[in-house]
Amino acid sequence: MEHYLSRNAQAIPPSGIRRIFDLASQPGVISLAIGEPDFTTPSHIREAAKESLDRGETHYTANLGILELRRAIAAKLARVSGLEVDGDSQVIVTIGGVQALQLAGAAILNPGDEVLIPDPGFMVYNSLCLLLGAVPVPYPLRIENGFYPDMAEVEALVTPRARMIVINSPGNPTGQLIPRESLEGLAALAERHDLVVVSDEVYDPIVYDGKRATCFATLPGMKDRTITVNGFSKAYAMTGWRVGYAAAHPAVIQAMMRIHQITIACVPTMVQMGALRALESDQGFIREMVEEYQARRDLITELLNRVPGLRCIKPEGAFYAFPDIRGTGMGSMELCEFLLETAKVGCVPGNVFGARGEGHVRISYASSREVLQEAGERMRQAFSR
Ligand code: PLP
Repeated sequence: MEHYLSRNAQAIPPSGIRRIFDLASQPGVISLAIGEPDFTTPSHIREAAKESLDRGETHYTANLGILELRRAIAAKLARVSGLEVDGDSQVIVTIGGVQALQLAGAAILNPGDEVLIPDPGFMVYNSLCLLLGAVPVPYPLRIENGFYPDMAEVEALVTPRARMIVINSPGNPTGQLIPRESLEGLAALAERHDLVVVSDEVYDPIVYDGKRATCFATLPGMKDRTITVNGFSKAYAMTGWRVGYAAAHPAVIQAMMRIHQITIACVPTMVQMGALRALESDQGFIREMVEEYQARRDLITELLNRVPGLRCIKPEGAFYAFPDIRGTGMGSMELCEFLLETAKVGCVPGNVFGARGEGHVRISYASSREVLQEAGERMRQAFSR
């Protein structure tokens, strides 16, 4: 049947992460491969979904999402990120941040348009471009530069066909928070080349050492050209609920809504009610979760730097470490296979996030400190053997 598959469907590479997940799920293996919080969604959020079902709220909602939720999202963007948007016309509730990314691409891109994407970066950016017939143009993030984009390098990649740039801070897989000056540089570049900016901010509450993530759309002149993507998966440990959102100019939201209407119709009602409760209740859960992640971040950085051949800079956000492994003399996949076989520790080869991820592995520290300690010890022993 393969010859019936569309060119775009065939262009999407199989997820490199899935193969590692399968290997890492064998008994006795500690998996540090997974990209989701190990916490369970707080009970008050779960209760809200149950209450919604018990009230018989089993119908479609507005395509954009429940108005009360969109207004709560707008209020949260204003309060937390300093971004003023109108909840009635500038917000759409989506199936996770992933669908917000897909709608953003589908609303803006024509076949052949070029999209600047971070390399290494979340694999979905590359695959979505291919699905839409757009051309991904990876811009490098190098450890030598703290995994921040180098403005001259990005500029050199822009051609007259460039239409969009994707920015992700705090970033997956690097864990880095792009400094405000670099974001301002990217804003000037977007203006100069008339690019639409997709700012993926799904990790924005998970930032350490008292730092704060900058919401890209709040930079001068950026509000109308930016599609802000965010969600509930990481902030509220709600990955399985599949709920996120985008905020953008009303014309862009309308276009996204028309695509959403014919594909999803609306996010499940009880899920939206859970998301609403998440925003309206005490945010202490996030604070506590981030404190715990910060302690784990400190621990994992120290453990990784003790392993001969690894060099790890302290991540500023998200829950990933992205050590440089070139000192081991092994490639990314080779090292992951070695760690699986010898240390029974699963992590993700850096090159699944783009060619510039080669020479690194991604380690998720969304696991308890005891588990991280044990994994670190196993890795150290594997190398000293
Ligand atoms: N953006 C980035 C950078 C991510 O790492 C992820 C998930 O891993 C997402 C977006 C999408 O998350 P969700 O669709 O669960 O909101």
